[in-house]
Amino acid sequence: MSVTLVNVTKIFTDQDDKSKEFTAVKNVNIEIREGEMVTFLGPSGCGKTTTLRIISGFEQQTKGDVYIDGKLVNDLPANKRDSSMVFQSYAIFPHLTVAQNIGFGLELRRFKKSEIKVEVDKIMQTMGLSALGTRQPSQLSGGQQQRVALARAIVNKPRVLLFDEPLSNLDAKLRDQMRTEIRRIQQKFGITSIYVTHDQEEAMTVSDRIMVMDRGAIQQLGTPFEIYSRPVNHFVADFIGRANFFTGNVTGLGKEVTISINKRGFSFPTFNKDVKMGKRATIIIRPEGLHITKQSPDAFFNGTISEAVYLGSTMEYEITVKGRTEPIVAISYNPVMEGFYKVGDEVGVTFDPISAHVIS
Ligand code: ADP
Ligand code: MG
Repeated sequence: MSVTLVNVTKIFTDQDDKSKEFTAVKNVNIEIREGEMVTFLGPSGCGKTTTLRIISGFEQQTKGDVYIDGKLVNDLPANKRDSSMVFQSYAIFPHLTVAQNIGFGLELRRFKKSEIKVEVDKIMQTMGLSALGTRQPSQLSGGQQQRVALARAIVNKPRVLLFDEPLSNLDAKLRDQMRTEIRRIQQKFGITSIYVTHDQEEAMTVSDRIMVMDRGAIQQLGTPFEIYSRPVNHFVADFIGRANFFTGNVTGLGKEVTISINKRGFSFPTFNKDVKMGKRATIIIRPEGLHITKQSPDAFFNGTISEAVYLGSTMEYEITVKGRTEPIVAISYNPVMEGFYKVGDEVGVTFDPISAHVIS
């Protein structure tokens, strides 16, 4: 089922002082395709949960329209929208067994006992829970509890699955496992899904597309590759991974863009449409797109290593450059081949134009 939001806006009014208004969601437009998994990503308070609750029907938008499968659902209550919310694992019932938890929704919908058993067994098998059907939630690990929460949502065969930070109370290792599992299950069942998180890595792993939000508004909607490698603005580049920013003047614009920094021109193949000849522009380069070399007048920048951290498979450097406030961050993914540098070394920094991106 597709989910479409058209100009969705949510304004909260202060209960004590009705003149105080707060816009939590601003003019959100998105079309989520059948079977697609889209993540709402952004810092805490940017409006992710509110947008999700508007889709589920738990919250009413102030303006705009919500369509599920092409049908306007603005006036349809939550329980008629055929969506299922996956909460954090602690939302499962502690006094029911695993199988009873999973079958709960079907029971509410007055399915026959025999039918419930068939459906619950099927789901438990798919999710590796078959051996745990008679256990109480307290006898399960965090990952198993999360799987029960997911199974409980999927057994109802919802047309849309909604996830609100489902992994935030699990430890880091389990989170990594579960996000891959959620993605596997989502793809297996082909259920249109919307996933809310503030964790950019989680978003990269589970999504077909990511909607990056800030202060209620969409900043960028794109594939994980587009979001990471072709960010449309400073906020997106900074929020997703680490980024170095270099500003200069646009002195050439055609198939490539040429940016002049300190009277030297550097050309880049990818840039945003709003980059204009003669105007300022910002080059975004991820730490892995930079390389450390000997100092040279041909280098992009010359500077001094101010921090060098050895992480086994990688080496992370900060390079301080005269006249630049922010140090440059570079990562070497093959330090044994590329050589080790230490704090105080005078070095040059070069870059791969293909891994850079220019914004206005
Ligand atoms: P996120 O999920 O991205 O952290 P939310 O959607 O929960 O953000 O909240 C967005 C903004 O709306 C926040 O500033 C929050 O305080 C505010 N907000 C959320 N729910 C209400 C409410 N019921 N009344 C007033 N303000 C709210
Ligand atoms: Mg939230």
